[in-house]
This record gives sequence, C-alpha cells and structure tokens, in this order.
Amino acid sequence: MNTTRIPILLYHSVSDSPSNEIARWNVSKRTFLDHMDAIADRGCMTLTVSQYLKVLELKEPIPDKLVLVTFDDGFAEVASFAAPALMERNISSTVFITTSPVVDARDETSRLPKATMMDAAAVVDLEDFGVEIGSHSHTHVQLDIIGARLVRDELVRSKMILEDLLGHPIRSVAYPHGYSNANVRRIAKEVGYEAACGVRNAFSSLLDDEFSISRLTVENTTSQSTVNAWLDQRGAALGGARNRYRTHLWRLYRRARFNAIPRVRPSRMQWRSST
Ligand SMILES: [Zn+2]
Repeated sequence: MNTTRIPILLYHSVSDSPSNEIARWNVSKRTFLDHMDAIADRGCMTLTVSQYLKVLELKEPIPDKLVLVTFDDGFAEVASFAAPALMERNISSTVFITTSPVVDARDETSRLPKATMMDAAAVVDLEDFGVEIGSHSHTHVQLDIIGARLVRDELVRSKMILEDLLGHPIRSVAYPHGYSNANVRRIAKEVGYEAACGVRNAFSSLLDDEFSISRLTVENTTSQSTVNAWLDQRGAALGGARNRYRTHLWRLYRRARFNAIPRVRPSRMQWRSST
C-alpha cells in the first residue's frame, strides 16, 4: 500500500478583520498569501477534491509534491480575496459551502458564526475563478448526532441549492466540524456525492476512504514553519487509522450536549468549540 503523505490544507476565514467568534479559524490575508507562495515556490501540484478522487481510486498516479487547498463554510472574503490570489498562482482549490446563508443571509437556522458569508452571486463568481464548489451541509449541524432523515435533508438540500445555482452536479461534500459516522457516509454516497472530507488533522493518503478524506486545519496559531513542514510531508500523522474508541466517546458527549440545548436558537458555541 502506498503511504505517500498528502497534505490537504483546510482554511475557514481569510480576513484582516475577523470577529472574535471566528478569530481562531481565521488567517490574515498576508499569512494566506505567504502560505500560497510556499506552495507555488515548492512547485507543488494542486488538485481539486474531485480530481484527487481519481488518485484515491487509483485511476491516476500520485503526482510528486501533491497538495490540496480547501476552505469550509463560505466566508465572503474567500471569494473576493482568496480566489483571485489562488488563480494568480495557478493553485487549484475546493470551497465547501454551507448553503443556508447563500439562500438567505438572515436565516436563523444557520449554526455558523455571525460573519459576512457568500451570497448566490459570490458563489457563481467563485466558480468562475476555477474553484471547485462542494457542499458543507445546509445549516452546519453536526451530522453524526442527528437522525438519518435530517442528515439526508441537510445533504440533499445543500446539493440541490448549489446545483440549481451552478447548473451542474456537485460531487463533493465536507462534513461540518469534520464529524461523520458510518450512517452519514452511507447517506452521502446514496444521495450522489462521490467524495467527502473530514478533518482528523492528519495527512491524507491512499489509505483514506473516499468518504472520509483527512485534512489538516490551518488556524490563526499555525506557523509558517508548520505549513512548510506539512508541504514537505512532515509534522503530522498519517490519516486512515484513527482512534475509534476515543472518537466514539467524544460523539456520545457531543450528542448529550446537543440534546441539552434548545433547538430554536442553536448555540453558536458549537461552532466555536471545534472546527
Ligand atoms: Zn464548517
């Protein structure tokens, strides 16, 4: 089995004026450009998640110095600032969008923090920059602690909204907070996705399941030297073999906490407490 380590970077917000609520998951514009310059300077090859799927399915060989750049949630500045910078550097990327704010910026069902998110026009613009658009559910709920009917609704609704907007199939999804379980992965496959990203903070490799692709979260405290090490395939574990017992206990804890909070106005603490 080929265990080449493939860094899949996960960004959220790229902004010089993030709210306190998203500060931990934000990188400044300068920092982001430095990271992208490091990718370009190394001569790394970049792929979208759908292109990477062909590597995982062994239909394509693993390119030398492969890296993927991904973004979750759909913050407006990813379209207005990050996408043009990526295009300038010829870096392929994938942006996973939570669709509730795309439909209605004031939608109270969204569990995302208060921030300026992409509207429908911004999503269309983003694709024009050559970015692959994927789904990140409709309301950003933790999919592994809700019932199958709700999981299906979250995954189908976001897929349909993006497909109606862009006029072609949406092939990939990223689970909110990276959380999934066997049921969530099965439903994602059933409703027509071909690949799905989790988090895990580990390198991806051919050991990854297509519906549980490992990514490395870039936070505001992630240093350039850490990013450089990741690009050089050092400094993190290999995905595909997580500690299942610990994951199970954490899920039980989150489910109990989720059931203890009112459903009408979901706590934004959920978003803040983890990616
Ligand atoms: Zn998210």
